[in-house]
Amino acid sequence: MFDVKGNLHRVLDTLPQGVRLVAISKYHPDDYILAAYEEGQRIFGESHEQELRQKHESLPKDIEWHFIGHLQTNKVKYIVPYVSMIEAVDSIRLLREINRQAEKCDRVVNVLLELHIAEEATKYGLSLDACRELLADGEWRGMAHVRICGLMMMASFVDDRDQIRREMQTAADFFDEVKAAYFADDDAFCERSWGMSDDYPIALETRTTMVRVGTAIFGPRVY
Ligand SMILES: *Cc1c(COP(=O)(O)O)cnc(C)c1O
Repeated sequence: MFDVKGNLHRVLDTLPQGVRLVAISKYHPDDYILAAYEEGQRIFGESHEQELRQKHESLPKDIEWHFIGHLQTNKVKYIVPYVSMIEAVDSIRLLREINRQAEKCDRVVNVLLELHIAEEATKYGLSLDACRELLADGEWRGMAHVRICGLMMMASFVDDRDQIRREMQTAADFFDEVKAAYFADDDAFCERSWGMSDDYPIALETRTTMVRVGTAIFGPRVY
């Protein structure tokens, strides 16, 4: 096995207080996850509903599962009963469906709004203006079964560190804007999820609270 335990500690050792690690375990087998679990890691991230379901069934029940992928509304009902956080909410439709399904199982589900700041057109997420509109519209205020905990984003896949830093800084500034405008009195709105294996050191300089690191811990994914 890849040196999961050693790698996990190498990543954890670089994280300042207040920054949590979401270990991204997609495409990796249960024993890799258990190796990290044995070292105390409890937050894991997955991006496919079926894979998450299987892992949730077979692995320890105190794991906090974050769904980090693009979520289709027809899959929401399968993950809502047990998921700890849905990180990539990119439409009011999806938010509505999470609220509807969470009400059915009497839960309040933590979510992040995903921003699209990267230049790649392939990425998902809300533009800053679309996110402003979603919040200004106010429908979310009536959703008693979702708790908006902050923002998530992926920087562009480029070598240009300055561009990555600019994109993350844009997200950090935008966090301050919406925090002041909509969540000033809401302590739950506190998370900034950015930073992956290649760019999490830059994320640490741009006020991330949650890094999502896969490859640097578990090695390359076999698709
Ligand atoms: C796969 C994935 C990650 C982790 O990427 P690594 O480069 O393996 O660290 C982080 N965030 C999201 C949204 C992902 O899909």
